[in-house]
Amino acid sequence: MFKAIRIFILLLILAAVALGTWRAQTRAVEWKHALPLNVYLINGDGSSVTAEYMRGLTLADFKPIEAFMQEEAARYGRESRASVDVRLGGILASQPPAPPGNHSVLEVMLWSLKMRWWSYLNADSRGAGTQVKIFLLYFDPALKNRLAHSTGLQKGLIGWVNVFASRDMAAQNNVVIVHEFLHTLGATDKYDAATNFPVFPDGYAIPDQLPLLPQRFAEVMAGRTPITQNVAETPAGLDETLIGKETAAEINWK
Ligand SMILES: [Zn+2]
Repeated sequence: MFKAIRIFILLLILAAVALGTWRAQTRAVEWKHALPLNVYLINGDGSSVTAEYMRGLTLADFKPIEAFMQEEAARYGRESRASVDVRLGGILASQPPAPPGNHSVLEVMLWSLKMRWWSYLNADSRGAGTQVKIFLLYFDPALKNRLAHSTGLQKGLIGWVNVFASRDMAAQNNVVIVHEFLHTLGATDKYDAATNFPVFPDGYAIPDQLPLLPQRFAEVMAGRTPITQNVAETPAGLDETLIGKETAAEINWK
């Protein structure tokens, strides 16, 4: 009985949240104003190296994201307001709730709700209106050489992004941040989950290029640049990355 009541209350909350979420999602891709993209820094491994690295970060480290979105908007014939306004939300002391280990729909939904509640309590943003919040969890590469998967929640316009606390990785981190940011706006992955290889044609930055390979750029939602039939490389930064036509359509740029 209690369980039934709990589930019923949970469903009511979900329905109310869903309505607000749907409105925010729709507004996020209207592109009437540059969309605020707040980035928050979190010490993922609690180490002093990571803390030191985070203290050295400034808004300038994330400005390439704004420049990339402006250039890409222009390439699709959109004005600069069809772009983003990157804001540095500062260092957060609190750790966000960890994503579920499995992909059960209910667990993911619950985590999404917890994450949004946590975000509401912990991450201040300037001004009203629809805004995206991206939480960057930094890890010292000397302690951890592989990072867990990042997640961008379209529901709630929230991204959880694992990144390396290293100057050498900063440009690649920005590619991952844009990837997860675009997920929050409804863009889908464009790589084969089994092989991690970009899917043709949507995962190719320039699918009508002749000859097709090697490609010079990575499509941002594919994440890698196809070089040969079975070799793809990680782009060094956003200057080696483009937004493909399908991704542009998904974020309402067409
Ligand atoms: Zn993805």
